[in-house]
Amino acid sequence: MRLVSVTFAVALLALSLAACTSGEGKDFDDVPAEPALNQEEQAALPTDEEAIHHAELEAALAAEVPEDDASNFDTDDTTNIIDGEVFDDEAASAAPNTIAFQPLLHSGLHPRASDALRAAGVAAWRITQTIGNAPASAGTHAADGSVNGRSYSAATDISVSGLSTTQIHNLLEKLAKQGFAVWYRKNGADGWSGANHMHMVYANCKMKSSLRSQVRSWLAGRNGLVSNTTYRFHTFSASAKATVKAKYEMSKSGTTNGGAGVPGRVNTAGAPLNVRSGTTLSSAVVGSVADGAYVTISCQKTGASVKGTYGTTTLWDKIGSGYVSDAFISTGSDGRVAPNCP
Ligand SMILES: [Zn+2]
Repeated sequence: MRLVSVTFAVALLALSLAACTSGEGKDFDDVPAEPALNQEEQAALPTDEEAIHHAELEAALAAEVPEDDASNFDTDDTTNIIDGEVFDDEAASAAPNTIAFQPLLHSGLHPRASDALRAAGVAAWRITQTIGNAPASAGTHAADGSVNGRSYSAATDISVSGLSTTQIHNLLEKLAKQGFAVWYRKNGADGWSGANHMHMVYANCKMKSSLRSQVRSWLAGRNGLVSNTTYRFHTFSASAKATVKAKYEMSKSGTTNGGAGVPGRVNTAGAPLNVRSGTTLSSAVVGSVADGAYVTISCQKTGASVKGTYGTTTLWDKIGSGYVSDAFISTGSDGRVAPNCP
């Protein structure tokens, strides 16, 4: 009898552990290590000339009246947002954008980057630089493209005025979880000399090659400068790194403005995952995705109940033109992350 009850207790423990795992496991776990930058990528990284324009910007910022948003960064919690669809205005097939974004937080931002900054709790006055006017910023902050008839730069600088060290760490984490490859540039640290600020690159948009190199350098845990040394001020969580990596892949490594949707990652513990024409296991197989692959979820729908890596669910995710069970997809949440499929 006693033996039975001990076994029962162990079974209960196992059940509760399994429930725990399914709750925490969907966090883009096990981000693969990023290969080092090749010579060409490293040569494209910005040099110290950046310090000149940042000094000018810091002076310009002194004239602004700060709104106290510091308490937004008391934790690193953040809510995932859905990247709305946009078109490059210069593309031949350019069509009007159909998804409404919030008004741009600051001119020169990509609309998705603007919404992501709002989601992270950043007030407009903190944004000191989007598209650079100073000659010294011609490289890094020059326009990367045009959306809704407005030019944008994927690179943005923000002020850390009024923030404690803890709040700076939390803000770095929040921004990365929204898809920014971001560094705190602190005078005298991590290869930086110049004004203290954050420099960030929004990963899910078309950008110039120097910024693509910066995102790659960030993913490899480096400082994003031509010295390309290990970045030591902050260690980003696996979930933050996975989000930047997945968003970067959504824009085909920063070469397009596509990338609408929500990033996820396949986890089958080995086998490829079938993509089906419908939301049941008897629906025709229309393709497959490799274990560990990053996918873009355009919408979700309820269907057949499936038991997978992350427990049992009736939720199915649309990727491309087919569906996969959400039981095998890490999305950062056990619930819905995308709108209902039509
Ligand atoms: Zn910058």
